[in-house]
Amino acid sequence: LIVRCVTISRFIFPVIFLIAGSTPALPGLQQAVQAPPPAGPIPAQQAAIPANPLAIVVLDPAHGGADTGARGASGIVESDVVLSFARLMRPALEEQGFRVLLTRQANEDPSFDERSQIANGQHGVIFISLHVASTGPTGTVRVYSFPQPSAPDLTLTSGLIPTNLIRWDHAQEAYLDSSRQLAQLVQAQMAQRFPGSPETAETAAVRQLRTVAAPAVAIEVSSVSLPDRSPLDQMGLGLAQGVASAVAAFRPIYAAGSK
Ligand SMILES: [Zn+2]
Repeated sequence: LIVRCVTISRFIFPVIFLIAGSTPALPGLQQAVQAPPPAGPIPAQQAAIPANPLAIVVLDPAHGGADTGARGASGIVESDVVLSFARLMRPALEEQGFRVLLTRQANEDPSFDERSQIANGQHGVIFISLHVASTGPTGTVRVYSFPQPSAPDLTLTSGLIPTNLIRWDHAQEAYLDSSRQLAQLVQAQMAQRFPGSPETAETAAVRQLRTVAAPAVAIEVSSVSLPDRSPLDQMGLGLAQGVASAVAAFRPIYAAGSK
């Protein structure tokens, strides 16, 4: 359900948060504060890429807890379906060499900021929020990135960021281009695998994406308005493989953008 998620937050962010090393301004410092690599052997190909290779995918099964998201007349619940999608995407992404973090493991409901924080505390990371719509042609998938703000904050979009301080409510603004590219890669995979899906990704002011300081997209599958869940469940593997292929194809784009 993107519609409700699009509503611009009425909350005013009272505090300026530190996002250390998330800007491209100070590569030396960025390396100095870079988290140690995950345990286990690193494939030679990954080890050869110098700065901030894409290593981590945060999967966000949206909603959860009391917030079920979209709910169909037959009882299909968005928050359940997106969790099952995330659980299928995890091994597909791990097979491509990525570390995968979920914003929720079961039916809890972390806040938007708690979910963003999982990505914002990492280097070499992207964020993918998962939704099921209440409408739309059965078996189709739409991919969104965050739109350009109507009055862009030039200190954030010009690349001339004087410090490593970024306000969380503007966190996504430095990543709009790369998010759009990621959205397009995912949308192209979805169009191949799920006929009737659009060829081109769109933008939507999805609240969750706004506070993510990394390339971030929302994926929305149609729909909960089915007599039973099986058509959605049958999409799970194709979704997982499509997302994994798209994220793997995004690696060189991410590497170029992080230098
Ligand atoms: Zn939703």
